[in-house]
Amino acid sequence: MQGQMMNRPLLISGLLEHAEQVYPGSEIVSRQVEGGIHRYTYADAGKRCRKLANALARLGVEPGDRVGTLAWNTNRHYELYFAVSGVQAVVHTVNPRLFPEQIVYIINHAEDRYLFVDLTFVALLESFADQLTSLRGIIVMTDRANMPNSSIDGLLCYEELLEAESDQYDWPSFSEESAAALCYTSGTTGNPKGVLYSHRSTILHAQAICQPQALNISSDSIVLPVVPMFHVCAWGSPYAVTLTGAKLVFPGPNMDGESLHQLIDAEQVNMALGVPTIWMGLLAYMKEIGKTLESVESVVVGGAAASQTMIQQFEETHGIFLVHAWGMTETSPLGTISSCSQEMKEMPLAQRYKLQQKQGRPIYGVSIKIVDDDGVELARDGKAFGRLLITGPWIAASYFREDHPENFIEGWFDTGDVATIDSKGYMQIVDRRKDVIKSGGEWISSIELENAALGHPSVTESCVIGVAHPKWDERPILLIVKKSGETLAEAEMIEFLTGKVAKWWLPDAVVFVEELPHTATGKLLKMTLREQYQSYLIDR
Ligand code: AMP
Repeated sequence: MQGQMMNRPLLISGLLEHAEQVYPGSEIVSRQVEGGIHRYTYADAGKRCRKLANALARLGVEPGDRVGTLAWNTNRHYELYFAVSGVQAVVHTVNPRLFPEQIVYIINHAEDRYLFVDLTFVALLESFADQLTSLRGIIVMTDRANMPNSSIDGLLCYEELLEAESDQYDWPSFSEESAAALCYTSGTTGNPKGVLYSHRSTILHAQAICQPQALNISSDSIVLPVVPMFHVCAWGSPYAVTLTGAKLVFPGPNMDGESLHQLIDAEQVNMALGVPTIWMGLLAYMKEIGKTLESVESVVVGGAAASQTMIQQFEETHGIFLVHAWGMTETSPLGTISSCSQEMKEMPLAQRYKLQQKQGRPIYGVSIKIVDDDGVELARDGKAFGRLLITGPWIAASYFREDHPENFIEGWFDTGDVATIDSKGYMQIVDRRKDVIKSGGEWISSIELENAALGHPSVTESCVIGVAHPKWDERPILLIVKKSGETLAEAEMIEFLTGKVAKWWLPDAVVFVEELPHTATGKLLKMTLREQYQSYLIDR
């Protein structure tokens, strides 16, 4: 017997309509690429999104067409999120930090019809515009006064496009399974792979991440997504925040500690989202000026592991609970989260810090499990570790225009991460499968070693890789970027780590470097380092 309830499709335009009607005066604030602060309300944003929808129709954008963006977190990018998906086209957020060849590859692979680009990236675009084969036009996200002189012919101006249009537009209704947004992974091997989110997956994810035991977003929140809108849709935060009508604060292109602090203070931000490197910058700046983050209640960190040092600094210096989350482009991204529970509040701090370092428990809607190489499920005892698999309505079921059957196993997505799960459901990432160090048949977690090294006050960044060893196959070496002006010797570092990790995990060498290479999403580029240091222990 079928239920008898309405089958109204879950559409992204519905989020905006809700915010316009229920929270019309709530603000969206952006630092602009041209400089200065832009401020308007959900009511204003709704009108501009409808103007943009009319402009897209005039440009000939059809349902299913891909519309690319090369842009920072600003109100214009926000408008593109809602208007492009609202007209049943697909917003394709391109990561400008990728290598130019990769950007060309993904724009051509996605067959983007139009590209909306921030002023910052016009010069970058000029270097490869002639290789983009599917584009009908490029729109610069600025007003006429700031339009650049460019070698690209026929650039259109965003504000002019909007000015010419009416703010009346009826958002169409269509299947919630329609594609809404496209985001490519920043794979370190091979070409980037596209993940195509649907309206349904986006809305279900938005609803799930607002929950108190997830990000805890409500209409009283003032949310600063520092995580870029070109990286997994800023973790879905623009959609989730709109759903609640909370105040949204966009940092534009300025993500250094000083700019973030200014914005947080001026707008009284109480929740901020970003990767660890962003928070390291902010924490260092706050220490330098000797101030604390007064308005912030929670900082969400994901994309890479949060170290104890960072968790502790937020807690003890700023009184902020660090919410550690895990996810990936293929998981929309939120999979698991370590939010503040009553149990955590009652724990001794040292014990709580250990728990906060875990990537947390799955939010309702997704399930996770760990399996061995034969696919046999492993114990949830916090000790056994294996391949992390995930399933749920906002998890990718395949890649865009590519077959990768190895990643999709009987309704589960193989994340490529290696993890443990404990009896209370807390998952902890041990490593990326390709980064795990196999020493004499046993596994060493590079993440755990890196976090232990970060605890040393002279260390800015640490990276552990496995390199060839004549006896043990592979042994860990530790690469360290020191704080400027600090002295630190190899023996001192080894002594510092002794007792913090198992004895046989201690690195065979400590190498001090000026800087470490990163991927376009800020992760350590371990593949390059492994190649560079492959025979380091043999040649020594
Ligand atoms: P991306 O698709 O670029 O967002 O990268 C996803 C990958 O980042 C995951 O598969 C993990 O390896 C890593 N990652 C994300 N969040 C965390 C976290 N909290 N701790 C450790 N690794 C993480």
